[in-house]
Amino acid sequence: MTGRRRRNAASARPRIAVVGANFAGLRAVQALGNEYDVTVFDPAPWFEWLPNIHELLSGAKRPADLRLSRKRLVKKAGHRFVRDAVVAIDARRGQLATSRGGAHDFDACIVAVGGVNETFGVRGADRHALPLRSVDDGEAVRRRLASLAKGRAPRSVVIVGGGFTGVEVLGEILRRYRTRKGLTIHVVDAAARLMAGAPPRIDAAVRAHCATFDVQIHTGSPVAAVTPAGVRLQSGRRLRSDLTLWTGGGSAPPLLRAAGLAAKPRQWAPVDASLRSRRLRNVFVIGDAAGLPHPVAKQAFYALEMGECAAGNVQRMLAGRKLKSFSPSRTPLLVAFGDLDTFLVAGRSVIANSTLAAAKEAVYQVTMAQIDPPLSAPALGQLAGRVIGVTRRLALSR
Ligand SMILES: Cc1cc2nc3c(=O)[nH]c(=O)nc-3n(C[C@H](O)[C@H](O)[C@H](O)COP(=O)(O)OP(=O)(O)OC[C@H]3O[C@@H](n4cnc5c(N)ncnc54)[C@H](O)[C@@H]3O)c2cc1C
Repeated sequence: MTGRRRRNAASARPRIAVVGANFAGLRAVQALGNEYDVTVFDPAPWFEWLPNIHELLSGAKRPADLRLSRKRLVKKAGHRFVRDAVVAIDARRGQLATSRGGAHDFDACIVAVGGVNETFGVRGADRHALPLRSVDDGEAVRRRLASLAKGRAPRSVVIVGGGFTGVEVLGEILRRYRTRKGLTIHVVDAAARLMAGAPPRIDAAVRAHCATFDVQIHTGSPVAAVTPAGVRLQSGRRLRSDLTLWTGGGSAPPLLRAAGLAAKPRQWAPVDASLRSRRLRNVFVIGDAAGLPHPVAKQAFYALEMGECAAGNVQRMLAGRKLKSFSPSRTPLLVAFGDLDTFLVAGRSVIANSTLAAAKEAVYQVTMAQIDPPLSAPALGQLAGRVIGVTRRLALSR
């Protein structure tokens, strides 16, 4: 029970509620000053660096490399962290409710709840396929892979989704298990090629890398059902599977519709150019959850930029000033393919080179250090552990 926080004479600071504190929400929290009474809600104790969770599968990263204490980061920013999920937002009354029965009043709210796993109604997918959207998910997959790889029995792994997560997952499985005899890996996607939104060169390069391994790529093959024994394609073909991984995409969390921020289920919350909700004017929606007038890819670096922008605009709104438009930077995408290759995608151009893995690693290390500057003993200790531990494991995996 968080207890309702009403404004009183002693605390006349405007109250800002931030719902969700990963990339977008946390960046907003860190940009808000102590002239505001800021309360941050998230049910999970850790900030998680999701762009590298595929590396958990090979052991190149460990959970501690990808996590930071949310309570510590929010406290360091001078604000209050409530470890609880928000279940209802009544923007008109400026109130929200949490799963443990807490109630909280706000003058402005920033919603940064990300997305949820989307299985598009494919029968059995929720039950029989493992998702990959959190550090715990990555660890569960790592454990299953390690147990399957024991012994010499033939094993089959099916990755549903040949987008950039599916490609990164395939690369990590090959990094660790490509010499394991009798392991067959299938990658299935409804689109005509891997990473359909990116230039075709990536599909060709991945296929060329896989030519010497037992990897079967089934593009143009929608999935009809997932069963405990495998995956059935719409063509009728069945793929036997000891482990099915679902990397098929994300959709909007139910809270957006329930709070009135979206008109329909599974719809990202429509916002204007300033990231302010088009439906509820004291709410900003940022990160993956936002449906922008000019959509950008659902990527961590855009989420960080939106967090910064929303923090500025909330302050402008509360002061009655004009809001600024969100202007995304042009940041290239780095897609890792285990230790075999890394692709840098900038618009329609692709550069492929395994040495780019160092650039992806640098983005991770530098941004983690920006999120948690090593100015205290715990932050410095964690930074040192990350740099030394990860560098050693990456070197050993070559
Ligand atoms: C496997 C994978 C690989 C990726 N690779 C890359 C990459 O290489 N590069 C890149 O830029 N991006 C990558 N991304 C995308 C990137 O992780 C997302 O774009 C980014 O996490 C979005 O940030 P966010 O803050 O909007 O949402 P999230 O990071 O999803 O955070 C949402 C937060 O909201 C909290 N929350 C949810 N519901 C509630 C609620 N009801 N109440 C309170 N809190 C709530 C959650 O606990 C979570 O902490 C990848 C994503 C995945 C899953």
